Amino acid sequence: MPQLPRTAALVLLVAAAAEAQAPEVPAPLPELGQPAALPDGAPPHLAKIDRAELRTHAFWLADDARGGRHTASKGQQETAKYVADQWKKLGLKPLGDQKGYLQYYPLKRTALDPATALTFGTTKVTADFAVLAPDAVKLAAGGKFVYCGNGAPDAIPDGLAGKLPYVVLQGNAKSTGPGNDLQALQRYQQIAAQLGKHGASCGIVCLLGEVGSLGNLLNYRAVLPDHPRLAFGSDDRRRIDLAVPLVVLGPKPAALLLAHTGLDAEGTTTGKPTNDKAAGKLNLVVTQDDKATASNVVAVLEGTSKKNEAIVFSAHHDHVGRRLDGDAFNGADDNASGTAGLLEIAQAFAQGPKPERSIVFLSVSGEELGLWGSDWYGQHPTWPLERIVADINIDMIGRAAGTAAAIELQVTPSHQHDKYSSLVRDAVGLGAKFGVTFSSGDTYYARSDHFNFAKRGVPVVFFCDGEHPDYHMVTDTPDRLDYVKMEAIARLAAWTGWQAANAKGRPQELGKQAAW
Ligand SMILES: [Zn+2]
Repeated sequence: MPQLPRTAALVLLVAAAAEAQAPEVPAPLPELGQPAALPDGAPPHLAKIDRAELRTHAFWLADDARGGRHTASKGQQETAKYVADQWKKLGLKPLGDQKGYLQYYPLKRTALDPATALTFGTTKVTADFAVLAPDAVKLAAGGKFVYCGNGAPDAIPDGLAGKLPYVVLQGNAKSTGPGNDLQALQRYQQIAAQLGKHGASCGIVCLLGEVGSLGNLLNYRAVLPDHPRLAFGSDDRRRIDLAVPLVVLGPKPAALLLAHTGLDAEGTTTGKPTNDKAAGKLNLVVTQDDKATASNVVAVLEGTSKKNEAIVFSAHHDHVGRRLDGDAFNGADDNASGTAGLLEIAQAFAQGPKPERSIVFLSVSGEELGLWGSDWYGQHPTWPLERIVADINIDMIGRAAGTAAAIELQVTPSHQHDKYSSLVRDAVGLGAKFGVTFSSGDTYYARSDHFNFAKRGVPVVFFCDGEHPDYHMVTDTPDRLDYVKMEAIARLAAWTGWQAANAKGRPQELGKQAAW
């Protein structure tokens, strides 16, 4: 059982304690100490970027209640509203659609209708499952459960029409990653094809154990409760071809179904279900909406003498949603940390002296799905692209290596990159004042939202701490972030933007250099 994030652990404990005694109060958060003094020469208003507020934002953004902030989910919409409300409170001017803070972009949404349920005995399964289906489905099936082993062709009997065939798969925690995900996908397709060939209109998969790829791939290929499958423009890479829809039950509901059919979960390979009268009903509704949308959040602080030009600060606020067992991918480092940083930077600018150039604050969604939100912004900029002189993007700034006095950070484009510019060179120089040393993050040059500015000719600098063992895991939780380092990194990013906003000229492209 993966370590549960603190908040979830609390919920379970509370349930237990409620019977015994008064609910437990969460352990007090560790002391963070006073905000660090600013380095010499730093604009004083950067002191408004402080570790305690960063933590408050990160805990809210990465709370289980946000459900992992999957694009177009309730959690992502709440998050977009949270960011917009913060910027409204700061008096920043909205720069989204129709004079609002939100900029909407079109999506094709394939979603699970809440009416979807599998019922058997006294059990009604409405959570901890996923549905693999190519397109919209409206299916009411019922009848006897028919055990089909692990879905191998010789384990599937004929005459499955009007029945509820089910297979049992053992997950494998070690089998993860793109290669295994593809194999798992093909496995599901083979099972569906076989079931369809034997007359079934759908199939049920009981996924047991540590799910691994058989579970992970569902996160972006299947639809789960409050977790739609999305397509953006021609990017419909997550659609899956399948002969019949499959309902994949997570370990909890799977165990309930096996108990109902009398199949001992351990003896799945050899055992036979003992309850041959076991029957159930499946009401499966998957809807498709070509007019769905998701949102970016955009605001501007107007500058002074050069106010028709702007610096953009960007960070994505979406993440990958919930796992099959309902556990949230909290996405504390990815990217509640960058979003908290963006909120604090906006506050410092909004409450500080006005810079010469304007400052655009851009909080996008759709990043995890393919940089969709920033791509849309690049196609439909609410500030003319030719007057955007730089983009400063932060994504994963809460788990930097090194110590508070010697922070190790990655940056791209590095001096080994064609697109290296004076913007990055100056940022590296400012970094030294915070004790930050840099290594090349060029492997991420095309993997976060700055890329949609860079590919449109805007000089960019991207700060990130690189991947760590909790990357895209349910263990990426806010209690594991380093708020002392985050404070320094957010201040560094802010200073980089302040400097570029007041610079005489625009950042200059330098191309590959021998050194920073
Ligand atoms: Zn990210």
